[in-house]
Amino acid sequence: MAEQKDISDWAFNTRAVRAGLAPTNEGEHSTPIFTTSSFLFDSAEQAEARFSGDEPGNIYSRFTNPSVRVFEDRLTALENGAWCQGTASGMAAVTGLCLAVLQQGDHLVASRSIFGTINVLFDSILPRYGIEVSFVDLADVADWQAAIKDNTKLLFLETPSNPQTAIGDLRAIADIAHQAGAELAVDNCFCTPALQRPFEFGADYVIHSATKYLDGQGRCIGGAILGNKPEQEETIRKFVRTTGPTMSPFNAWVFTKGLEILSLRMKGHCENAQKVAEFLNTQPNVKQVFYPGLSSHPQHELAKSQQSGFGAIVSFEVEGGREAAWKIINNTSMLSITANLGDTRTTITHPATTTHGRVSDEEKAKAGVTEGLIRIAVGLEDADDIIADIVRGLA
Ligand SMILES: *Cc1c(COP(=O)(O)O)cnc(C)c1O
Repeated sequence: MAEQKDISDWAFNTRAVRAGLAPTNEGEHSTPIFTTSSFLFDSAEQAEARFSGDEPGNIYSRFTNPSVRVFEDRLTALENGAWCQGTASGMAAVTGLCLAVLQQGDHLVASRSIFGTINVLFDSILPRYGIEVSFVDLADVADWQAAIKDNTKLLFLETPSNPQTAIGDLRAIADIAHQAGAELAVDNCFCTPALQRPFEFGADYVIHSATKYLDGQGRCIGGAILGNKPEQEETIRKFVRTTGPTMSPFNAWVFTKGLEILSLRMKGHCENAQKVAEFLNTQPNVKQVFYPGLSSHPQHELAKSQQSGFGAIVSFEVEGGREAAWKIINNTSMLSITANLGDTRTTITHPATTTHGRVSDEEKAKAGVTEGLIRIAVGLEDADDIIADIVRGLA
């Protein structure tokens, strides 16, 4: 394998296209897929040195794999982190981070407005292992401060939130964590590093569901944990290697290719989402539109200060509750009725009965997931066609 290039002078798009490439001596230009479970050693002596850690190098693909490494190195470069561990899914990344850094008796403070399955993990699974969890209002900095206890070790949030697009003040919440001797983890799924880089605002860990915008075409499930300090790395790698939620080489290759055009895609998503949000804002039977790019969004200025684009998730509440919301969804003919997001194809979802279906009514109400709420993850079709299909729905 050739030496890695010094990427420190490269700007974002150059990193997206070239960081992490490690050509073999076959002269390939595109990065190959290493579908091998284990790796050969020259001798018994070398095998011993690899296993003991005296000699760096591949052993087994649950530990390291060259295709996964290209993805990890590239995402590290894009997030301006120190290291990255690929995982089998976004949920494996969240679970892996929490179980690796928390232990029985520790306290986790999490935003209430998080991905529905993470809510289930925090609300009903982590407490079984003696990890105490408090939920707070993402946008209320005082609420984060008030939740801190002596045993608080980790703060966790996603911004903008799903599905209400509330914004968390990354700098202020990172400061609260650090003053308490705790760390901040940010799920950067909705913005991706093309629009927001949480380490620049003081976050200690970044989580990704690569399933979404990093792939960008709805093909593979995967995730990543990143940190900005070298000393965090071994704890996380040891946990993932031992418990086994490894990213597959094929998926890593798909994500690596997705990263090459990440900022072009995110730019297109944001442009379309802005048009969809502005259109919905003019509709009489739409009670409220949630999109950080609207000047009416309560945290529009904060979003501008920490994001370079407003993302592609647009949520809106209609009059008439579930019945009206379902009717709109069923009346569309082009939009995909699916819970996924971060795809080239625009998707439409009723969060209360799908992504947040397992969340308690009380938590749903607090997270603003009402029966009349619809979430659109705006894709890369022509905006006029997306809007025409929503018009069909609203008719
Ligand atoms: C989808 C999603 C996850 C979970 O990722 P999977 O790849 O589905 O396991 C985590 N966080 C956010 C914000 C998501 O949208």
